[in-house]
Amino acid sequence: MPMKNKILIANRGEIALRVIRAAKELGIETVAVYSLADEQSLHVKLADEAICIGGHRSKDSYLNMNSVLSAAISTGCNAIHPGYGFLSENSEFVEMVERCQIQFIGPNSKTIAMIGDKSSARAIAKSCGVPIVEGSDGILEDADSGLKIAKKIGYPVMIKASSGGGGRGIAIVRSDDEFLSAFERTSLEAETSFGDKSLYIEKFIESPRHIEIQIIADKSGNVVHLFERDCSMQRRNQKMIEETPSPILNELLRRKIGNAAIKLAKAINYVNAGTMEFLVDSKGNFYFIEMNTRIQVEHPITEAITGIDLVKEQIRIAYGKELSFKQRDVKINGHAIECRINAEDPMKGFMPTPGKIENILFPGGIGIRLDTHIYPGYEVPPFYDSMIAKLIVHAPTRKEAIKKMRVALEQFVIEGISTNIEYQYLIMHNPDFIKGQYDTGFIARFNTLVEAESRE
Ligand code: ADP
Ligand code: ADP
Ligand code: MG
Repeated sequence: MPMKNKILIANRGEIALRVIRAAKELGIETVAVYSLADEQSLHVKLADEAICIGGHRSKDSYLNMNSVLSAAISTGCNAIHPGYGFLSENSEFVEMVERCQIQFIGPNSKTIAMIGDKSSARAIAKSCGVPIVEGSDGILEDADSGLKIAKKIGYPVMIKASSGGGGRGIAIVRSDDEFLSAFERTSLEAETSFGDKSLYIEKFIESPRHIEIQIIADKSGNVVHLFERDCSMQRRNQKMIEETPSPILNELLRRKIGNAAIKLAKAINYVNAGTMEFLVDSKGNFYFIEMNTRIQVEHPITEAITGIDLVKEQIRIAYGKELSFKQRDVKINGHAIECRINAEDPMKGFMPTPGKIENILFPGGIGIRLDTHIYPGYEVPPFYDSMIAKLIVHAPTRKEAIKKMRVALEQFVIEGISTNIEYQYLIMHNPDFIKGQYDTGFIARFNTLVEAESRE
């Protein structure tokens, strides 16, 4: 008798719900884990079972590897879905999962250690002939040798944490004078946030677009890319709005970047869903910056235009099934945009606004998708990421998608706490955004504008 499939979800919030839904559709049981702060969370209620794994702070619960693993073993799970963030890219955790003969829904620990480390990923990409940003060969030995490399490359440069993520552990340096203090600061931030202070240097690309390619690969060696996502709308190197297809890619460039991503995925025998991130400069040159070896926050826009359920595919692949489609089967259908809805106050420097949600009106209609874990009466805890919902629209054209997003944002009401809904609504009316003319510096410039107007 084959063992019954059962998945532990090592995450919280909307992504935990996303995985529960996919598993249920596949007829697979789920186990939720939660912290003391999340007792009233929807993932706890919607999973077949739920286990408390510790205290409020992430390090006492969602980042506690032994607690998560014990929960999986004691409930008889044969697979773990990590979602994004938390332990999703932690090779030590994945190795522990493997040793317990539990299937990790993602690549293996060796792959994660190799390509998840950003400095090592650069070396691998380079050896495969995939262009990378000019920078240091490997991690910096110390501040002085870093300074020499920065001088050689020429300012501005970026100092980046090799284990960094979520836009943290990155500093831009514009001169020799700034270098040493930026090095110390970033090293400390990397140490405290990621437990690894290794740093590397990249030339700072002026006003780039962030273009990433969704990859999916099975255990039989089939690798397919599901086109790009343009994630250039960022605040402090953290994505805020994503869309696909990218307004700046033509067919040729789309094919080139897609092929580069496939080449890299094949070179490392990649299995499961992953994303290769690239920067594209104003001349159309593209450079690999990192790979995320997990499902991404913005995966729904790819699902919208391809009609493929990425999380169900992830689960199927982990259980040994082959991809149900070939490269030639996947086509771009229409246009999709995602707005990240955060519990934060854009008028107060995007300060997080945890607290009780008194009431909600959800948007709806054709081509609208809302991935969220909030409900009226829900209390947003102060301990985790401030993202509380993802609003995704899908329409035949980009113009129609923008109009749909405006209406959806207008009809999305959250009472009790401040959110960035109105701010997103303003961006949907910005002439440059509407023209598709924006780069990773857009939001910083937009904020200066909004602040000036609010002072008038
Ligand atoms: P994505 O890369 O999926 O677009 P983000 O960069 O916003 O999304 O990251 C998703 C979540 O994961 C955020 O909560 C972010 O803080 C967290 N995260 C991403 N990478 C790491 C990492 N290396 N270590 C810790 N947290 C991370
Ligand atoms: P994270 O792991 O935090 O996602 P990334 O390496 O993906 O870090 O970089 C996050 C963002 O920072 C990019 O999307 C881009 O906007 C900016 N960035 C990173 N490297 C560079 C660079 N060399 N030049 C200009 N911008 C960069
Ligand atoms: Mg990134």
